Amino acid sequence: MSRCLADRSIDHVVLERGEVANSWKNERWDSLRLLTPNWQSRLPGYGYEGDDPDGFRTMPETIDFLECYAEVISAPVQTDTTVTSVRSVDDGYLVATTQGDWQCRTVVIASGACNVARVPAVAEALPSSIATFTPMDYRNPDQLAPGGVLVVGASASGTQIAAEIHRSGRPVTLALGEHIRVPRVYRGRDIEWWMDAAGVLDEFYTEVDNIDRVRGVPSLQLAGSDDRHTVDLNSLTDVGVKLLGRLAGINDGKAQFSGALRNLCEMSDLKMNRLLDTIDEWETENPFDEEVPPPHRFEPTRVEASPPLGMNLNSGEIQTIVWATGFRPDHSWLDVPVFDRKGRIRHDGGVVEAAGMYLMGIPFLRRRKSSLIDGAGDDARDLSAHLAAYLDGAAPRPASDPASDDTASAAF
Ligand SMILES: Cc1cc2nc3c(=O)[nH]c(=O)nc-3n(C[C@H](O)[C@H](O)[C@H](O)COP(=O)(O)OP(=O)(O)OC[C@H]3O[C@@H](n4cnc5c(N)ncnc54)[C@H](O)[C@@H]3O)c2cc1C
Repeated sequence: MSRCLADRSIDHVVLERGEVANSWKNERWDSLRLLTPNWQSRLPGYGYEGDDPDGFRTMPETIDFLECYAEVISAPVQTDTTVTSVRSVDDGYLVATTQGDWQCRTVVIASGACNVARVPAVAEALPSSIATFTPMDYRNPDQLAPGGVLVVGASASGTQIAAEIHRSGRPVTLALGEHIRVPRVYRGRDIEWWMDAAGVLDEFYTEVDNIDRVRGVPSLQLAGSDDRHTVDLNSLTDVGVKLLGRLAGINDGKAQFSGALRNLCEMSDLKMNRLLDTIDEWETENPFDEEVPPPHRFEPTRVEASPPLGMNLNSGEIQTIVWATGFRPDHSWLDVPVFDRKGRIRHDGGVVEAAGMYLMGIPFLRRRKSSLIDGAGDDARDLSAHLAAYLDGAAPRPASDPASDDTASAAF
């Protein structure tokens, strides 16, 4: 957004409570690598120029990438500046920070979608002998006591952390709810390549039936690694991870799990096959390479016929629980009445229901890729066009109208 505002000569400042790339520096586990290939982190005027476009950045590489970008575009970042409140005032907003106040006509909220780890209410009934972590405070298996580990949640974070803890020699049980299975590689290409080429990631928020539901779906079950292996439930059961259904409750130290494990996995397999159908149809209509292997399907997820429905958490079998149950943004500092019943900011494709206020980086904000690094550029181009028109006093274009590439001379 800073780059797009600079392109339009719009005076702005970027307020950051920590440092550039703060979330990657302080809120991720040590072994994490991006699950998006190097070529895919395309930012306005900046992309990957190394010799491994299909590789996956480590955390130090990701931090370096973002720090270089901030430098290359001379982003006016003011670090160590926490925004403590944003209030409406005449003709704009008063932004209070730990380093003084700012007054401005427009505000772009780009404080992230993953500020707080979601932990289900059942956690309150956990026996105190069990240590708990979330993906935000888990760093590596050395932090954990010896003994069994229950990982709750089987999306990108849960499956990766379960695999790593299992490799450390601890028995791992994975309790899972809705999850989205995808192969890392399909027909010789990365799944992200297919989704990008087939336009799946560009799907627009006005094109989906139930945008509220789609904005709540979990992340793809994907991991980045040198050998490009798929981390799915079959790969985890192959090495000895036990699968259970959704953690439904904890009573007197007894955890109860839903019996719908098979249904959940069948649903996930079905959705994966639908995505592969879309990719195959696209490839048939847009043949690009005779060498591309033919369509095929993957083995269905293997699940026990009757997985256990209970577990005694006082027996000592489980020493640690990792809550990999998703994340949520923290907008507690926003003192403008723009929240819906569920505490989410009301917006239309990032144009917030408060004049001159914009939102970035939220799942499916404008496109399926909106919460990826790769999605920020297109969203910022659209929203900066809207913001510029607002500042000019022109009637801003509808939020659902993507900006043309010719942003500087776009007329509204
Ligand atoms: C575990 C994990 C793995 C991921 N892997 C990938 C991946 O492989 N590829 C990919 O494209 N995306 C990935 N993502 C999504 C990724 O977070 C986004 O793509 C990207 O970080 C979004 O950037 P952002 O600037 O919107 O949010 P963030 O990176 O969260 O940045 C928000 C910034 O706002 C600051 N901030 C928050 N509140 C305040 C405040 N009150 N005052 C001042 N500053 C504040 C924070 O310190 C932070 O630096 C992953 C996310 C997680 C959680």
